[in-house]
Amino acid sequence: MMELIGIFGGTFNPIHNGHLALAQSVLETLQCTQIRFVPAALPPHKTAPAVTAQHRAAMVKLAIQGHHQFVLDTCELDRQGPSYTIETLHLLRQRFPHQSLCLLMGQDSYQKLPTWHRWTALLDYAHLLVIHRAEAEKTLSLHAGHRGKLINIEDAPTAFSTQAHGLISYLTQTPPAISSTGLRASLAQHALNTITDMPAAVLQYIQQHHLYQHPARE
Ligand code: ATP
Repeated sequence: MMELIGIFGGTFNPIHNGHLALAQSVLETLQCTQIRFVPAALPPHKTAPAVTAQHRAAMVKLAIQGHHQFVLDTCELDRQGPSYTIETLHLLRQRFPHQSLCLLMGQDSYQKLPTWHRWTALLDYAHLLVIHRAEAEKTLSLHAGHRGKLINIEDAPTAFSTQAHGLISYLTQTPPAISSTGLRASLAQHALNTITDMPAAVLQYIQQHHLYQHPARE
């Protein structure tokens, strides 16, 4: 049996309670030793965020403080060009040669996976755990090439730590229906003290740095 590490990439523009609930339920379900939050510097499939990667990473750091199994990983901030997940996994594989890795993603991200750079190689480095997202159907339609790799969530803790990569599982427990897009709109329109979908320390940071005040900007 190997130690199992969760890898949670995202734009985190900004991080919210949906992300944190997702990470918490994955931690409990898979019995990972840690979950690494990896903010994208330049997300390949979104318009370049108006809020810098440094601010987004700082908000992740504030959001996870006190959770000793949640770790901020800034490896994508140190690279040039688009933040490809495959390159991150390649790097983490070298950094954690004796551990098992599991990439986490919401169901909306999984549906778009075939647009990702070298997506078919992701399973050569890590397992994949897809988490149901509110409003998505509660069945996972697997991409060609992924059939035969899906295992029951009940079997995932053992299977994921017995082999180092190559399996997929699906967690149907749904995190709260929160999105960064929705939050950016609320942050631009409403008084910050009425917003409850993110940790208070993150809201305070947003206020201090005057972030998300323009509704039209990403
Ligand atoms: P946006 O609204 O800008 O698309 P987002 O809320 O999806 O942002 P990201 O940082 O892009 O935030 O998300 C990182 C990962 O977390 C993605 O794989 C996404 O599917 C997943 N995720 C985010 N929020 C939720 C949620 N509420 N429920 C389930 N998965 C989520």
